[in-house]
This record gives sequence, structure tokens and C-alpha cells, in this order.
Amino acid sequence: MIDPVSRRAFLGMTGAAVGAAVLPPVKQGSLGGPAIHLRGVARPTAISSANSLAPVTQALELVQAGVDTLDAAVEGVKIQELDPEDTSVGYGGLPNEHGVVQLDASCVHGPSRRAGAVGALEGIKTPSEVAKLVLKYTDHIMLVGEGAKQFALSYGFKEEDLMTQASREDWLRWRANRGPKDDWLDVPDDENMVRPTGTINLNVVNAAGDLSSVTTTSGLAWKIPGRVGDSPIIGAGQYTDNDIGGAGSTGRGESNIMVCGAFLTVEHMRRGMAPTDACLETLRRVMQMTPPRLLHPDGTPRFDLSFYAVNKAGEFGAGSLYDRTRWGPRRYAVHDGREASFQDAAYLYERAV
Ligand code: ASP
Repeated sequence: MIDPVSRRAFLGMTGAAVGAAVLPPVKQGSLGGPAIHLRGVARPTAISSANSLAPVTQALELVQAGVDTLDAAVEGVKIQELDPEDTSVGYGGLPNEHGVVQLDASCVHGPSRRAGAVGALEGIKTPSEVAKLVLKYTDHIMLVGEGAKQFALSYGFKEEDLMTQASREDWLRWRANRGPKDDWLDVPDDENMVRPTGTINLNVVNAAGDLSSVTTTSGLAWKIPGRVGDSPIIGAGQYTDNDIGGAGSTGRGESNIMVCGAFLTVEHMRRGMAPTDACLETLRRVMQMTPPRLLHPDGTPRFDLSFYAVNKAGEFGAGSLYDRTRWGPRRYAVHDGREASFQDAAYLYERAV
């Protein structure tokens, strides 16, 4: 059990001061030689998935105003969690096969080397905030299901219906068209039964080189109740080592979990890789671990997966299995301290159009 003093120390401080007070200094080179040892010369940067131009802008503005990197990252992703139009996270996120929205989120605070996560959380619009409370106020890392909800309620969160009219209609359409032998009458399905997915991973570094990462999602649409993906798994959905950088993922969670992809991406950066190369190298490992049932006859994947990374100096990059989604080029959102923009991700495969 960690001495509660360290918790008080955490709550009273922000940024680099937290790590200094709570933990002994990490010896340089003790983990195989961190690639980046810059303090005070980082370019503040926030990188995230394509649905996150507003979140990277919010996170970057907050760190530039001196707000702690984790607080800034969570405030950023909350914009999308609270947006009923975003069906991949929080309020309005697509539900499980029973029509219940179950949310996953996790975070790592680089300076204090703490992590928090929630899985299969129901009724709370902003799981990223609840994950941050697990990090700050408990000696644990992950709370799930009813326990996670009770924990959130104890901090004053309101239990709410997370379904919107649009997400309910999507779910009812899916349920009606699920199979030829079920008891529901088919309804027109213009999406051709595409199974929507989506997530936000946001990683941020401030001018002092302190980092944090957060990932939040409603997970795979129509999932088996209780299924959690990669997003709440520390080291898969996101990971930060304050000596090196932060990384995280969106896409097929099961494939990411098998390689601990966010952790692996940070480890690639530790060995000196640039963020984009680190993301692509992790994706190569994903392909090595992919069973034949998930491959097309030509060996290309039947799924997509993306990684986003930023290092301690503020260099950033992203990589995806495929160059494009059904809707256009695979992009990510970044704020590099000057402006927010969309960038094309690097990739391993070209999608046949
Ligand atoms: N990674 C998420 C999950 O597997 C889904 C997604 O990003 O599309 O739950």
C-alpha cells in the first residue's frame, strides 16, 4: 500500500514537481537508455485521432496556460465525450448488443507515473474523468462495471441515459437486421451493416517535457455485454513514460491488446525511433500476431488499427494499417503549439478502392 502522504503530495502539486516529490529520480539509462533527455526545451504538442481537432486545441491551450498535462488531456477529450454527435465516445456512443452504452477509458500521468482506468462503465458521460479520479484518489489502477459507476456517483457524477435518438435508431436497425433467422423484421439498412468503431486517444507534452495520455471509447458497437477492448488497458490503449513519450491507439482493440501496443510504441521510441517509425514498427508486430482468420487471402488484414505518438521533445507521428478509411485518407489531429491541423498517417497497406 502506498503511503497516503504521496496522494496528498500529488493533489497539492502539478507537473514536474509531482514526480520529484513522490518518486526517487529515475537513473538515466536504467531502462536501457532513454532516447530523449530534454527538460525545458520541448515543443508543446497534442496529438489525437481524427475526430479530435477541438480536443487537441483545448489540451494545447490549457498546457500553454500552465495546466497539468493530464488535466489538459482530459478536458480535451471531454469535448467529444459530451458531444451527442460523436457516436464513438461518451454520451451518444453506440451501445452493446443489449442496447446499453458501456464506456472504457484510461490515462497515465507522466510526471507522477500513475495510471487510472475504468471498464464497462454505464450511465456516466465522461469516463475519462472517472479514470483520472481512480488515478488520483485510489491505490488501484482499474475499476469496472457497477463498482466503477458507484465510484463515480460517490464523486457527484450524475447517472444519465447515454443513448441519443440517433444511437438508439442505429442500434434498433442493427438488431432488426442481425440475422435472417431472428424474430425481428428487417428494416432498410443503408450502411450495409458496417460495424462502426471509434475511439479518442490524446497524448500531450508541455514545454517542460512532461507528458500525459488518455484514451476514451464506447468500444466496438453492438459488443457482447461486458466486453472491454484495448482502451482501458494500460499499455495497450495508451501509455506514457515521462522520460520518453506517450502513445495510444484506435481501431481493433483485440489486435492491439495482443502486442501491448501503446507500451511497445513507447519502447520503440526509447530505442531511438521517431514517433511515426515507432507506430509502424508496432503495427508490423500486430501483423506478426494476427491469425489467418483475420487476414484476406493476400495476407492483408481484415481490420484496421492506428497508433499515435509524441516524444518528450514534442516530435509526433501516427501510423495505421491502412492508408484510408471508407470515407477518405486516414488522418489524425495535431496541435504543434502554433496551429491545429489534420495530418495524413503513415501506413503499411493501401486499401483497395
Ligand atoms: N479500440 C476500440 C475498442 O476496441 C474501438 C475503436 O477504436 O474503434 O474498443
